Amino acid sequence: MNRVMVTGGAGYIGSHACKALRAAGWEPVVYDNLVYGHREAVKWGPFEQGDILDEARLAEVFAAYRPVAVMHFAAFAYVGESVTDPEKYYRNNVEGTAALLRAMRKAEIGRLIFSSSCATYGMAETIPILEAQLQAPINPYGRTKLIGEQIARDYTHAYGFDCIALRYFNAAGADLDGEIGEDHDPETHLIPLVLQAAAGIRPTITVFGDDYDTPDGTCIRDYLHVADLASAHVAALERLDAGSKGFAALNLGTGQGTSVREIIEAAQRVTGRSIPVTMAPRREGDPAALVADPSAANDMLGWTARHSDLDTIISTAWNWLDLSTQGALRRA
Ligand code: UDP
Repeated sequence: MNRVMVTGGAGYIGSHACKALRAAGWEPVVYDNLVYGHREAVKWGPFEQGDILDEARLAEVFAAYRPVAVMHFAAFAYVGESVTDPEKYYRNNVEGTAALLRAMRKAEIGRLIFSSSCATYGMAETIPILEAQLQAPINPYGRTKLIGEQIARDYTHAYGFDCIALRYFNAAGADLDGEIGEDHDPETHLIPLVLQAAAGIRPTITVFGDDYDTPDGTCIRDYLHVADLASAHVAALERLDAGSKGFAALNLGTGQGTSVREIIEAAQRVTGRSIPVTMAPRREGDPAALVADPSAANDMLGWTARHSDLDTIISTAWNWLDLSTQGALRRA
């Protein structure tokens, strides 16, 4: 079976990608330092503990498994923390990506799927966002992802690497079978926090700003079900396997924008719980609206979002919260 190495495969998006890879006939070899990842989320192939900064360990794992490609999810991804502690982000996301690519080159593995982000666009000039739009990130996290893309692009140019960078919009939801889900500590993402408020695990959901230039004043994002993200990765890998050359960057989103208020309303409807809301000032580094134009991914990968309606996103995340709290919601 063809093997693919998945850095960060014990994390939220990486673990869902591993499940999709296995279902498509690939063997995912997870490489994760377990700083934020969860060992129990590695279920679909071998696990090797290691850090992307550790080139000797990477060389060992490459030699042992001979993967045909690497999916590189491993990264720190808290926008707020990247503002207060940029060193941590440049070290892991930039130096770590550089170390991984060096190790790949030494091992003669030249196919890469790189986890990039809509945070590389910054304050989008036009909505929906096309890939050709200016990338001008407004926080260190976005800058680290942009630099990662640029390193990968230079490797395709100079060393014959083939890379597809996937620019995720807002990953959300959980595995449709309830086998894995989102477990961040600390949790900062809107949907899990809204559901924790619905469950009474936290008293309220804090809305960061209602004075944006949007129809209801709250920020607009493009929420994409993690199962759709996972299937896009498999499609991208298959493109590389079929001989796609050079560097491509693709937006992964639905093309639909949803405001913070709309998320809270949908969560109230889907869960049948009332959700107390507290208003707060804007969060630093938040653009008013980020919505993808996903047509390039549709065209190049033959991929489209299939599970990203709000009800599926919220009900799978709610189911996961219930499972991961041992049914606390049903008892509440
Ligand atoms: N948000 C919020 N309250 C929270 C967490 C997030 O109002 O407790 C807002 C945030 O300002 C942004 C949107 O929800 O406009 C999505 O935030 P999230 O952190 O989930 O993803 P991001 O877009 O930052 O990657």
